Amino acid sequence: MADAAIQPKTESLRTLPGDDVRQVLWRFADRYDLQMLVQSVRAVARGPVARLVAEGARHEHDWTPRKAALLDHYDASGITGVFMDPEDGGFIEGPKNFALALTAFELAWVDAGAATGALAGFLGLSPIHERGTPEQNHRYMALAAPARAAAEGRKPMRAAFALTEPIPYVGVDTGMLNGKVRIAEWKDGAEPVLKVDKRGRFITNMGFANVVTAAVESADPRIKGSCMVILEEGDPGVFDRGTPTRKLVHQLSSTSDPIFSLTVPASRIVGGYTVKDGVVVPNYSHSEVIEAVFKRTRVTVGVMTSAKLLSAVEPVIRYQRQRFRGAEQAKPGSLRYELGIQQREDALHRLASIWAMGEAAASLGFQTARLFDELDPLERKKDALLKDQNIGGTRATMKWMSMVEKNALELLELQGHPQGEKEAKRIAQLQGDEMVRYALIEAQANVLCPATKLWNTGQGATMMREALSLMGGYGITEDCPGFLPLKWMDAQLEATYEGPEAVQRRQLSVTMVNELFLAQVKSWIRELRHIAATRPGTGACTLATAFQAWLWTTRHLATARDAHGEKLYQSPRQGVSFPLADALAWLCASRAQILDLVELDEKGPGHPTLAEGFAGLSQFMTDLCHVQAMRAAGEVGRICAELVYGYNKHPEWDEDARRTCYTVDELDSLEGIVSGIGSAANDVIGTGGSHPPKAGPCARCQNVSDFAALRVKLDACLTGSRLSKDRAAIALSKVMIPEALDYPA
Ligand SMILES: Cc1cc2nc3c(=O)[nH]c(=O)nc-3n(C[C@H](O)[C@H](O)[C@H](O)COP(=O)(O)OP(=O)(O)OC[C@H]3O[C@@H](n4cnc5c(N)ncnc54)[C@H](O)[C@@H]3O)c2cc1C
Repeated sequence: MADAAIQPKTESLRTLPGDDVRQVLWRFADRYDLQMLVQSVRAVARGPVARLVAEGARHEHDWTPRKAALLDHYDASGITGVFMDPEDGGFIEGPKNFALALTAFELAWVDAGAATGALAGFLGLSPIHERGTPEQNHRYMALAAPARAAAEGRKPMRAAFALTEPIPYVGVDTGMLNGKVRIAEWKDGAEPVLKVDKRGRFITNMGFANVVTAAVESADPRIKGSCMVILEEGDPGVFDRGTPTRKLVHQLSSTSDPIFSLTVPASRIVGGYTVKDGVVVPNYSHSEVIEAVFKRTRVTVGVMTSAKLLSAVEPVIRYQRQRFRGAEQAKPGSLRYELGIQQREDALHRLASIWAMGEAAASLGFQTARLFDELDPLERKKDALLKDQNIGGTRATMKWMSMVEKNALELLELQGHPQGEKEAKRIAQLQGDEMVRYALIEAQANVLCPATKLWNTGQGATMMREALSLMGGYGITEDCPGFLPLKWMDAQLEATYEGPEAVQRRQLSVTMVNELFLAQVKSWIRELRHIAATRPGTGACTLATAFQAWLWTTRHLATARDAHGEKLYQSPRQGVSFPLADALAWLCASRAQILDLVELDEKGPGHPTLAEGFAGLSQFMTDLCHVQAMRAAGEVGRICAELVYGYNKHPEWDEDARRTCYTVDELDSLEGIVSGIGSAANDVIGTGGSHPPKAGPCARCQNVSDFAALRVKLDACLTGSRLSKDRAAIALSKVMIPEALDYPA
């Protein structure tokens, strides 16, 4: 590894990236409010939360008083209030997706159960926040805001979200509801009274929540469809919290299977209702509400798993370095003493992969959270505009949306080509159109949210196993520093709740083939090439080619058929669309990481605390980007090749196939005309009809020659990427780490 080609051209990484680096990378260097939030959440995470884990509180399934005490810490530190607007007792102005993502990151750095416990309250409130009436919104946000509660001398209200039901009802398939709503009483001229029956399964916060937003379906001809209803402890009837779930993970959150049979006024229907011909028509079905909710909350879950990967770096380095200290053969100053296991290339390479994936996952999660912060106000403007123009109903809204999307596509098309004055004017006009901006961001967000949830948690869980394996036997003991084994198990829950991977892949299989998204992918490819032109070592060029291969494959599969003549890209064929979704998620994560690096390179040198040692930091982060782009390109190449070639029938040695091959006699006679043809021919039929010992003549797949060329190019684009990994590995063996972890083991 000492070869000059891989030695850092500049200095090496000096210390692990601190808050100042993160603030620039994740774009909150100018948000003092968020920096303060991070500090106060961290104090809770590395203080009371870490102590509880270290004391073994995760061995209990029940919601115990010592776990419940965490709620007071969440309230006092501002964690509970992050979700609310200032007028309802919160303290952060504007959209809060990014603030919530930072909160989740800090808590999950230590324990994702604590993060989940804190955030599940927001999940419970989210149906009201996203689709509730203004009255519902103000009432419940104010009830839940700790500042308001303290001023009024009461405890804050705690919320839970109840969608999942006992088998055989709602799980991945959110349409199969067994929870029911009926009219209990409807006096003339008065508000209807509803009877709600709902059994939940695995409902977070149920050990203490006193308000529940529950998904139910009508079991009464006087109520149309489905809806979500707000249930309060104290409503007449049964509010049974149920038995605690015997979880192997996230024990610092409370989960149980509750039973509700309650009578509530119809004003509790989330988003309100109208009465048409004597029938209560909810303004939003339960699916419309949960779609709006999960669209945002799933991002924070993805961010949690990224925190675990990054939190593993320091404990692993410390373990590797100290591994042989104290042995007679490892004298201070010797390589064995100083570097321990870090003398070994594999240990360093694997750690570099973990770190690279952690960076990419965090970049993707925070990028998506910021995107939702941009989307939220635009979405509200769109809703207001549609209302103003009296456009309602699915069909009319879709018609309006397709007109806006047409404009957005025109903008992308114009931006992709050299422009004259007329085009520049039109570009400026379209860029100034907020609804065009809305359409562009929405098309991205619809992909990046499920991609974050899918990739960060699924691949993150797999990568956490790697982190444990680097700790040897220690990695699977309760004493392992950084709570790494717990984090590994926990990651599997993050991959499961709020919709497991299949749900995210299903959503991606629809949103990633939206023309407006695909057109943006083309501009991403151009952008990556431009980045590569000034930052060749980032892997941006490799990634651009990988995006091209993905785009080609997506276009190809849209019309291609398999060997039986069946269409390949269609909803039931998850074997086609799901891997393609996985491939895209790898690409999105790597792209987000590279964009963050560009930001760091632009802002870092002028930053008061980053300037010193910046060259080493930048080189290391560049190498990590390259490592990740290499991995993403590898995954994409593999997946796309399987899909492009895998559904064709391989030729056999039948008559038709044999006719396409040379015979030995033909080759002999051709040799005089084309010298060397015999050695170039692959599939030659011998005398007596014998053939080479293989499955059949080699598949030609002539209609995919463009893909074959792209694949060869993609492989060649990996040039230099392993040198980057070597360089990152060397940096890992030199970087300084603190004496001890800042939270207990
Ligand atoms: C600790 C914990 C806390 C939770 N908190 C809450 C909460 O607060 N509120 C709430 O409502 N729910 C909650 N859940 C429920 C969670 O969201 C569900 O468990 C999850 O969505 C999966 O549903 P399921 O368990 O019924 O899995 P299933 O629906 O049985 O799915 C199992 C597997 O089958 C496959 N599969 C199923 N359907 C399909 C399909 N159509 N296509 C392809 N593959 C498919 C997938 O691989 C999936 O992973 C929680 C769960 C746990 C474990």
